[in-house]
Amino acid sequence: MNDIKNTIYIIGIGPGDISMMTGEAIEAIKASDTIVGYPVYLKLVEELTTGKELIATPMKQEVERCRMAYEEAAKGKKVAVISSGDAGIYGMASLMYELLPEHPGTELKVIAGITAANSGAAVLGAPLSGDFAVISMSDLLTPFELIEKRLRAAAEADMVIVLYNPASHKRKDYLKKACEIIGDIIPSDRACGYVKNIGREGEEPVALTFSELREAEVDMFTTVYIGNSNSFIMDGRMITRRGYDI
Ligand code: SAH
Repeated sequence: MNDIKNTIYIIGIGPGDISMMTGEAIEAIKASDTIVGYPVYLKLVEELTTGKELIATPMKQEVERCRMAYEEAAKGKKVAVISSGDAGIYGMASLMYELLPEHPGTELKVIAGITAANSGAAVLGAPLSGDFAVISMSDLLTPFELIEKRLRAAAEADMVIVLYNPASHKRKDYLKKACEIIGDIIPSDRACGYVKNIGREGEEPVALTFSELREAEVDMFTTVYIGNSNSFIMDGRMITRRGYDI
C-alpha cells in the first residue's frame, strides 16, 4: 500500500542565471507552493516564485531549514528546498535524507542541477576532460587533516583538482594553504584557473600558472581549477588534453 502523502523537491538551481537551470528544476519550482532556501538563492529564482510562500533561512542553520521544510510539507504544502549548483553536491539533499526517517509519509525527489565545477569549466575552457577530483576547502564539517590528505592524494594521482570553498570571511588564506600542501607535487608552471561568480553578475574567468594561483585573491564565490600534467593555457583559456593524436 502506498501511503506517501507529501513530496518535497530538493532542487539544484545551477550557478545563478535561470537559463542555466534544467527544465525539470523550473517545472518543480513552478509546481511548489513553498520555497525554502538562503535569501541569495531565493533572489536568483525570483521570477519563478511570484505568489508563492518563500521561507528564507540564514546560513549555518541547515538542520533547522530542513526540519522547517518537513513541517511545511506536513501541513499539506508542496515544498521545494533549493540549493545552488547541484543540491547533492555540498548541498541539502543528503541531510534531507538523513532526516527522512523522522517523517514517514514524506517522499523526497532530488532534481539535478549544474554544479559549479562544470559550469565554471565551460567558462574557463575545457579543464575537466580527464579524471578530476572535487575537494572543498571548508573545514566546518570536515577535519582539515582529511582535506590535506585528499589534496595530496589527488595531486599525487595527477588528477585535475577542483576546489570549492577556497576562501570565506574567516578562511581568507585557504587557497594559499591548499597550494602550500601540494606545492612539492605540482610544478610552479602548471596550468591552473579560477572562475568568480559563474553565471552571475561579475563572472570572471582567469587562467594562470600554479605559482600565480598561490598569490591569487579569491572569495567564497570562486571555483578553482588546478590542472594535471596534460593541462595547458591557450589565449586565456585552461584546457586539459585528452590525449588524441592530432
Ligand atoms: N551545491 C553547490 C556547491 C556549494 S559549496 C554546487 O553544486 O555548485 C559552495 C562553493 O561552490 C563556493 O565556495 C564556490 O567554490 C562554488 N560555487 C558555487 N556557486 C558558484 C558560482 N556561481 N560561481 C563560482 N563558484 C561557485
